[in-house]
Amino acid sequence: MGLESLMPMPPSGDRISVERKPVDETCPKCGSGNVARYPVANFIGPRMVTKCQDCFHSLSVDVPTEEDHWPPWRSATLDWPTSRAG
Ligand SMILES: [Zn+2]
Repeated sequence: MGLESLMPMPPSGDRISVERKPVDETCPKCGSGNVARYPVANFIGPRMVTKCQDCFHSLSVDVPTEEDHWPPWRSATLDWPTSRAG
């Protein structure tokens, strides 16, 4: 785990946004090739979603990997195994 994932930098610019990275997939619902993967924060916690950008059909929802740098305030112990006490 790199230090950059533990020490988030202050935001710069007038607006805060996430980068929607295009992926080489086709939407099974509308057939569009405009599919992107990007971070979200929803009711089950931080996730990476792959969604069609034309109809917003959700192709997948993944747990973020270390390379995703999401969330930026990721805990240093996030990947540690839990004990029976939690
Ligand atoms: Zn679609």
